[in-house]
Amino acid sequence: MIPTTPILPPKDLPLNNILPDEPLLLMGAGPVPVSQKVAMANSVVINHLGETMNKVIERVRVMSQYVFQTRSPHIIGVAGPGSAAMEMAITNLLWPGRKVLSINNGFFSSRLAEMAERVGAQVTVYTPPAGHEACAKEVEELISNGDFDVVTMVQGETSCTVWNSQLAQITQLAHQHGVLSIVDAVCTLSTMPLQMDDWQVDVVITGGQKGLASIPGVSLIAFSEHVWPVIMERTVPMPHWCLDVRLASEFWEKKGYHYTAPVSGILALHEALRQVCLETLEKRFERHLVCSNALQMAIEAMGLKLFIEPESRLNSVVGIVVPEGVDSAQVLTNMSNLYKVEISGSFGLPIIRIGQMGEQSRAHNLYRTLHALGMSMKSCGASIDLPAGMAELERILDTKDDLTA
Ligand SMILES: *Cc1c(COP(=O)(O)O)cnc(C)c1O
Repeated sequence: MIPTTPILPPKDLPLNNILPDEPLLLMGAGPVPVSQKVAMANSVVINHLGETMNKVIERVRVMSQYVFQTRSPHIIGVAGPGSAAMEMAITNLLWPGRKVLSINNGFFSSRLAEMAERVGAQVTVYTPPAGHEACAKEVEELISNGDFDVVTMVQGETSCTVWNSQLAQITQLAHQHGVLSIVDAVCTLSTMPLQMDDWQVDVVITGGQKGLASIPGVSLIAFSEHVWPVIMERTVPMPHWCLDVRLASEFWEKKGYHYTAPVSGILALHEALRQVCLETLEKRFERHLVCSNALQMAIEAMGLKLFIEPESRLNSVVGIVVPEGVDSAQVLTNMSNLYKVEISGSFGLPIIRIGQMGEQSRAHNLYRTLHALGMSMKSCGASIDLPAGMAELERILDTKDDLTA
């Protein structure tokens, strides 16, 4: 044997060498800041099976039914990102020979189409004009003339900041035509209305780290009573093991073993859901609406342009056009280094994005973020009127203390 040098431990690598002294304010497209209660819950490890966990799961189900607005008991947690929940939906409803109409507004909605292709489904993509929501009339035409098993769409397309405002019409007409619907509500759930039962949605996907204001890596998915038999009575082989809903329901519905559930993350989710329930959906939607509108108007008052027209504009993530000649990466670095505020760039579009999900929609976070944005834009050469923007923010938020504090 050739003698080799031993593999030694690296020098001490304490996290506080790389973590900032003061956490940066996460105002991007996710992950979002978590409350102290969520952070505390996330620091606890308990047994994944047994009485305590059973109670946690039961409460997660009951609180989720409120948040998803469904009476269906079929709420499943996923140890994985929002994308794993997307994959669970796709994998359990689609297989070779199945036909899907995939509504594509951008990066995340096209991911659903890509996943459908990977499981061998026959995918038809409907792409609304760039920057616009899906049109229910056009979808109805496609559905009437096609022979689809499933339609997929996002409520909010986080990448280009488009809102599919005709979601309810689309899922209801899909239901009338016998087509199952999969809705990605990762960035929108609990920030704006989504009535799973009333809108006859069959599958709603959400992640932890966006609208729900929990941690990344543990997600939730809700299945309607209507779609459940399709999944349970499937005879086609299921290629996934972790994402097989029938196996996952052993844990989530029968309190048996599937895999070791991400207990800490589920406790965090429990706390995040609890906070939504305490606030009530009504108040929470209003808070998000008021805060996002105030931010949007303040950005315009400052002299910057929003990327999407009002009728198709997503409130949960706001897209701002980067002025000609301004380097967006430099704006983000400047905001992060000098003002300790992080916002997001984009996937190839000439925009930067500010999130309005969960704790991001608080007055004090808006003032700090708008100020950081304005100062950094200015130092990167944009001609803007920051005082006008700050004044507009104050004008709108001034009377809303009770709601936005
Ligand atoms: C972020 C996001 C996802 C993906 O979530 P991950 O946790 O990053 O996998 C999917 N859909 C939408 C609409 C999103 O905003």
